[in-house]
Order: sequence, then C-alpha cells, then structure tokens
Amino acid sequence: MRLDKDYLMEMELWPHFEMRGLGQAAPAPVELPIATQAERVARVARVTAAAPAQSVPRNQPIRVAAPIRPPASPRPADPALLARIAGADWNALQQIASGCQACALCGERKNVVFGVGPQAAHWLFIGESPGAEEDQSGEPFVGQAGKLLDAMLGAAGLARGREVYLANVVKCRPPGRRTPLPEEALACAPLLDRQIDLIQPKIIVALGKTAIARLIGSDAPMVALRGRVHQYRDIPVIATYHPAYLLRNLPEKLKAWEDLQLAKSTLAGLL
Ligand code: URA
Repeated sequence: MRLDKDYLMEMELWPHFEMRGLGQAAPAPVELPIATQAERVARVARVTAAAPAQSVPRNQPIRVAAPIRPPASPRPADPALLARIAGADWNALQQIASGCQACALCGERKNVVFGVGPQAAHWLFIGESPGAEEDQSGEPFVGQAGKLLDAMLGAAGLARGREVYLANVVKCRPPGRRTPLPEEALACAPLLDRQIDLIQPKIIVALGKTAIARLIGSDAPMVALRGRVHQYRDIPVIATYHPAYLLRNLPEKLKAWEDLQLAKSTLAGLL
C-alpha cells in the first residue's frame, strides 16, 4: 500500500495526515493499566475540562454527550444462535461469523470481513461495510478509503494491526456499493457487540453515519455529533467522517484530524 509523502501530497493530505516516522520501525506497543469502571467514568468527565483547544469546535467546550436514544437492540431470528454468540470466545466468534446466514448478504459474499488487529487493541475503528476489494481479500479497509484511513492513523501515531482494531457494522458486502440496510446492521449487531465485548477497547471511533447510527443511535447531522464524547456500553465513542466521504470532500479532512485529536485526548484522560 502506497503511503509515502508524494501520495499524501497528491491527495492533499500532507501535512495533516503526514506519516510520522514513515519508513521507520513502528514503536513497540505500550502495555497500559486497566482502570476500574468508576475511574474511567471520572476520567471521561475530566477530559471534558482538560481537552486541548485544537480538539474543540470554535467557541465551544467539549461536552460528554447525553445518550440520544439507546442503540437499536439486535433482534436475532434464532435465540440459540444469539446465546452461542454471547458466550463465544474469539475463535468461536470468528467461526460463527464465517458461516453466518443471518441476512441475505451471505448469498453473494466471497468472504466474511470479520476485522483486523490485535484482539486486545485499545483503539477500535468501526466503519460501514466491506466493498468489493474487502470482500475479495477478507480484510476491512483495503481500498482507497482504507489508504486514507491508514494515513489518518499514521498521522495520529497509530497503525492498523498494532494498537488499532478495524471492524465494520456489517461484515458482508452489500451489492452495488449500496449502504447497508438497517435490518442488515441489526442482523450483524450480535457479532459486532460480542467483538466489542471481547476486545474491550478503551475508545471507539465511529466512521460515518452507519457506524454512528449503530453505536450512538443518532441520525443527527455530523456537525451536531462531532466534538463531544458519546458512549457505547460505557466505552467513549468519537464520531467522525467516513474516509470514503473524506475522499470526496478533502477539505473536511482537517475536521477528521480534530476528531482524532479529541479521541487521543479522551483516551489519555482515561489511562
Ligand atoms: N468502507 C467501510 O466502511 N469498510 C470497509 O471495510 C471498506 C470501506
């Protein structure tokens, strides 16, 4: 994958998504202490006061957002399958996903795109659904949007497969590049929920409307959701633009940069 300076300049992403240490060995992952729930909640509240100005929309303090409405609850067709998913370990979950037939998308898939990264990643980025390249390779975000996402991660000192886990709301490719239907997101919800339970990320970045709707339960415009810390099952969630949207609206990349800074400062307040 091409992520050098020329490529980023071509895409008008330099210097905001400049790759730090391009071509150098990645720093070793840091083992971070696990905080109790009470500590984490208190720290999220402190982030509200302590976040740097650059991560805050102009003239507005960062706010920990009140839940807008509870995320849609999964309605599995098969309670026995739901019970298996709820009790699955990582391998069992991958196996269940690989044979999943909970919605019609299973009919045309080449691969179930389960996710990629360390199972104990502190960062979880959640996108929408696989496209043709992801369906072919079985890995999320390997197309153009994925290149941009990798550049964004690199600019924030992060890397897929190191401290970042990448997953999607829907694990099979919807045909014709369409947005997944709400019922497809719902059918996949038990898998993603169990994935989140097992990863126990310290922070989630919701990429675009589908991920935001699934995790935060809001279809409000992005402008109303950015710049604050949402929650999904006590895990802080930062809402930002989907990289595919940024590819079509490159001037918005600065906002995505600010969102990643907010995510970083939120995480720093938790650790
Ligand atoms: N877009 C997504 O949301 N996920 C992918 O895996 C690829 C493109």
